[in-house]
Amino acid sequence: TPPDDAPRFNSAAARDIEYALHPYTNHKAFRESGPLIIQRGEGIRVFDDAGRDYIESVAGLWCASLGFANQRLADAAYRQMQKLPFYHAFGARSHDPLIDLSEMLIGRAPLSSGGKPFSKVFFANSGSEANDSAIKMIWFFNNAIGRPAKKKIIGRVRGYHGITVASGSVTGQPANHAMFDLPIAGFHHVSTPHHYGYAQPGESEEAFATRLAQELEDLILREGPDTVAAFFAEPVMGAGGVIIPPATYYEKVQAVLRKHDVLFVADEVICGFGRTGSYWGCQTFNIQPDILTCAKQLSSAFLPISAVMISDRLYQGIAEGSDKAGTWAHGFTYSGHPVPAAVAIETLKIYDEIDMPKLVAERGAYLQRAMRERFADHPLVGEVRGVGMIGAIQLSPDKASRATFDPARKLGTRWQALGQEHGVMMRVLVNESAAISPPLIISEAEIDTMLERMM
Ligand code: PLP
Repeated sequence: TPPDDAPRFNSAAARDIEYALHPYTNHKAFRESGPLIIQRGEGIRVFDDAGRDYIESVAGLWCASLGFANQRLADAAYRQMQKLPFYHAFGARSHDPLIDLSEMLIGRAPLSSGGKPFSKVFFANSGSEANDSAIKMIWFFNNAIGRPAKKKIIGRVRGYHGITVASGSVTGQPANHAMFDLPIAGFHHVSTPHHYGYAQPGESEEAFATRLAQELEDLILREGPDTVAAFFAEPVMGAGGVIIPPATYYEKVQAVLRKHDVLFVADEVICGFGRTGSYWGCQTFNIQPDILTCAKQLSSAFLPISAVMISDRLYQGIAEGSDKAGTWAHGFTYSGHPVPAAVAIETLKIYDEIDMPKLVAERGAYLQRAMRERFADHPLVGEVRGVGMIGAIQLSPDKASRATFDPARKLGTRWQALGQEHGVMMRVLVNESAAISPPLIISEAEIDTMLERMM
């Protein structure tokens, strides 16, 4: 006989096990455990099919910035569906949501390379597609301007840029590579800029940043600057462990890239739209990228949409190339789909009305203080870090030596399971760090409850 808690025949759980192939899942273990079925959302909480509530400490997947219910976003989608549920933008066609959202994004963008404004926006449906598109734009650009050998892409170990073939190759996580035959040729990775994790004893943040910039330059020189096209970075590395870069890191990295004419792609899929306390992570860390990709909080996750913003230099090259080739043969059926675009427009209006970066800067300061007060001296915690409304609590058996726990003990996985029992949905990452990235609308009282449930 099956155990009492086994999914009932024909229950939602049993049908899930029978039919669905879940993303990021151990499919064998899943057949035993079955799913936790989430049925509805409200504010910073989601509710399961037994009515239990969970505070979402990572806003789902770092995306539900306005929480799990919002009438204005629902209305925006409904209105657009009634008026024009679909039209594409291939060739010389367009529609109002695409035009309005493009203008709004360019108007809110940070400065691109050389302190110039961004020029154009291209839309896709996910972060992976945005980064894949960025790579193809870079390759097309370099072909168009007559340097066809300049194609290699540099990412960082543990960086996360998606899972499609090209974006998955920039991603620097072993689990995304092993058994998928990634990365493909021409993709390289430099070290993770985590001072706590990788600095040598006594090495200052600045000295560590200098060493990492030198490593980047050595790689470019070894491969040949004429063959290296672009460097990808999340301003704050998210899924790879919430890594706040050491002081002066991006200044030094940008100097190396400029010297060898290597483009900087800022992956703002997590950091964009206020997460780090400025509108863009690029503004928090003084980055002037050639390309900026964003997704997730662009629509507060209510519908899938992502964007790639490019500098005027990129645009000019791509425009020339498209004329030579007859067309720029790139685009998705749903690039700039009017319904997600309408939801994104409403999302950006809400961010403006509540002055989201200011709200995050203030409430983020409370979050950072509260995390440290509760966890910094905990005997199982090595480092508490963060900026704005993103942070991490990293486990360690010994703060002084910065040792790590034996992975076989699966402490992070157990912490995550305990959190779930206590009503907080957690995400413990590869470096045994619990990510903290709640909906940006979280209140101070809710921050306290969230952290209490994690303790
Ligand atoms: N880039 C970053 C920084 C991300 O965090 C993610 C997803 O978590 C992606 C890209 C990929 O986005 P998607 O899952 O929408 O393809």
